[in-house]
Amino acid sequence: MEIRFDDRVAIVTGAGTGLGRSHALGLAARGAKLVINDLGAATDGSGRNESAAGAVVHEIRKAGGEAIAHGADVSNEAEVQDMVDKTLSEWGRVDIVVNNAGILRDKSFAKMTMADFRKVVDVHLIGSANVTHACWPVMREQKYGRVVLTSSGSGLYGNFGQSNYGAAKAAMVGLMNVLHLEGARDNIRVNTLAPTATTRMTEDLLPSEAAQLLAPETITPGLLFLVSENAPSRVILGAGGGCFAQTRIYETEGIELASGEITAEEVAASFAEISDPDEQAELHDAFSQTRKYARKAAEARGMN
Ligand code: NAD
Repeated sequence: MEIRFDDRVAIVTGAGTGLGRSHALGLAARGAKLVINDLGAATDGSGRNESAAGAVVHEIRKAGGEAIAHGADVSNEAEVQDMVDKTLSEWGRVDIVVNNAGILRDKSFAKMTMADFRKVVDVHLIGSANVTHACWPVMREQKYGRVVLTSSGSGLYGNFGQSNYGAAKAAMVGLMNVLHLEGARDNIRVNTLAPTATTRMTEDLLPSEAAQLLAPETITPGLLFLVSENAPSRVILGAGGGCFAQTRIYETEGIELASGEITAEEVAASFAEISDPDEQAELHDAFSQTRKYARKAAEARGMN
């Protein structure tokens, strides 16, 4: 079935260029009304150019779509609230939030200043929380919402020199896990995109053959699926060059050390068994883990 966004209102952050621009154009081409947010910052987050979002708004309007620009800094709660207020006064609803704005301040942890660490966390994590938080009551009231957080292989798997970025990007998964649970009863679905694309953020890092294959437009179809009417929820979708894969978090079944005193030596001696992937499973929430441990402890002590 064709995926359409007619009558849906979407906010895409950092949509003046790169992946955000591609996502915004993809949504607009399928009928969504767009808020093009962009601070117009350099890749390291410095500077500001209020006209950064204007070109994309122009592109959408020229193609017959509807769009407005907003230059909010996503890390600034008051500016974000102003953006959401303007969205509501223009169209009266917000159905889709694509948290995409991002910056880099790479350095090995030994050389990184805490100011650079905090700045990256502020834009990615606090920025995503600000925008989603401002739209949350609207989505709850509407009983409809689709939220995407943008993670990265750096956050999921690590990348040398990106402790700030990797931590902020891994935090997207934590935010998604909780918002998925809290949003479910109001038909709010929350997913995470982990893209690899050629943009100004990565053009110097990727070998040229790979760079040609990894255009942002190869990723946007995955994003469109994650914010569609029949979207899944709590999915981490990796995407790049037309390749799509899902990252999942499993816990091994584990073991119970029930023989009297529980010692570090026993943990060390049992580590292979603790790590055995047979019967590993995804857990529904934090209490599923607590219940599992309590059950195993009780069984091992003959209490069941
Ligand atoms: P990009 O630099 O091309 O675009 C980022 C946009 O965000 C810019 O237009 C910038 O002005 C805007 N921005 C920065 N700070 C902002 C702020 N505080 N408020 C509002 N807008 C702000 O980068 P991109 O490659 O398109 O990255 C988009 C997202 O995808 C980022 O979150 C990035 O971390 C993530 N990502 C990208 C890649 C990749 O390979 N390009 C890989 C993994 C994750």
